[in-house]
Amino acid sequence: MTSPKGTFDILPLANELWQQSHLWRFFEENVYASTKLYGFEEIRTPIFEKTELFLRGVGDSSDIVSKEMYTFEDKGGRSMTLRPELTASVMRSFAEHHLEQKGALHKLFYMGPMFRYDRPQAGRYRQFHQMGAEIIGGKSPLHDAEIIDFAVSILQKLGLTKLNLFINSVGDADSRQAFSQALKEYLPENQLSEDSRKRLSTNPLRILDSKDPGDQALLEKAPKLRDFLGSSSQDHLQIVQEQLKTWGHDTIIHPRLVRGLDYYNETVFEVTAGGQNAQNALCGGGRYDGLLKLLGGADLPGVGFAMGIERVLQALIAQEKAPSMPGLCSLFLISLGDAAKSLSLKLLKDLRADGISVVMDYSGKKIKDQLKMASDRGCKYALIIGDEEISSGQAELKNLASRETKKISWQNRAILKGDLL
Ligand code: AMP
Repeated sequence: MTSPKGTFDILPLANELWQQSHLWRFFEENVYASTKLYGFEEIRTPIFEKTELFLRGVGDSSDIVSKEMYTFEDKGGRSMTLRPELTASVMRSFAEHHLEQKGALHKLFYMGPMFRYDRPQAGRYRQFHQMGAEIIGGKSPLHDAEIIDFAVSILQKLGLTKLNLFINSVGDADSRQAFSQALKEYLPENQLSEDSRKRLSTNPLRILDSKDPGDQALLEKAPKLRDFLGSSSQDHLQIVQEQLKTWGHDTIIHPRLVRGLDYYNETVFEVTAGGQNAQNALCGGGRYDGLLKLLGGADLPGVGFAMGIERVLQALIAQEKAPSMPGLCSLFLISLGDAAKSLSLKLLKDLRADGISVVMDYSGKKIKDQLKMASDRGCKYALIIGDEEISSGQAELKNLASRETKKISWQNRAILKGDLL
């Protein structure tokens, strides 16, 4: 039996480096540290929601909703969907629990699996993982700048370099409306790709996202979104860019960046890592001022992003920045004979109580094999205890990396601890 197509296991030792659990832990610990620095609090919502939430909150003209949802009927005949993204769930939860009554500004982050029935390929999975954050209740462009700085600084702290930060403005509803109309009038329907033809009536803005070369060529001379932006949208974008500049981030204006989801307004952004396929974004987001209200909540603005954890780990490996696997333990205990075994079992428990990581193998394998097991798993030291060590009270502590040995009074835990730490 294998895991379903487009899914994968995360293991201590996996063939694909990015599937190794220590890297996931490395990512998560870094994120938790950054969220503290920036004052984001965690939100956890259900893995599945009522389908209607995503129809309304993500938009039924988006690929995610129209093609990629894992939708099923539960035993009560209700339509449920495995979450394809989390912003809609966060807004649902925010509205349901009236978080607007619990403060003026809300900074939330999340981490977990998302599900999209997409064609599996490198960097694209059916169960994938996102870390994301939302700032709800702030209209100032400084919030946009802060959320972008937060996303980029997470990537930088992990060790990634050569990041490209693309930014654009999709303006307000009126300018998008006028631009959509102009696009509709300009683009020759019969020359567009099949997907774009559909979008011409449902959501013309999304045609800018098209990867089809024919569509791209047609767009060259098409009306430009920036020409439809009002002065307040232009000012908004400029403030975001200027603030990011003072925080040390160069931005690249990407005039066709509109992002896949329908609910964005004003700022949209994406981050890619240099050397990668530019379409393999590590992270993307933007402002979505009307979403909470649309989902029955308060009329509060929001800005957020989602980061693909698989892609970040793959970028770390590509840039040779992934940390090496940590050792399994400080001490690997090897005992010979029954008396030594029972003393070792006691020592094992006592050392763990002292906060030292210790592992013991109970299979009775030869010393040589146990030493190999200890080195293979990156243990720092091995201690061999037999009858002689019991009577003398002395044992050899072996440093498995340097192969040096040292005689120690193995029953004196204070001394042993000093050597191990
Ligand atoms: P989105 O929610 O589509 O804006 O995606 C945000 C980020 O999630 C992307 O930049 C990717 O890094 C990641 N992502 C989206 N879809 C997938 C997928 N099917 N497999 C892996 N990562 C994904």
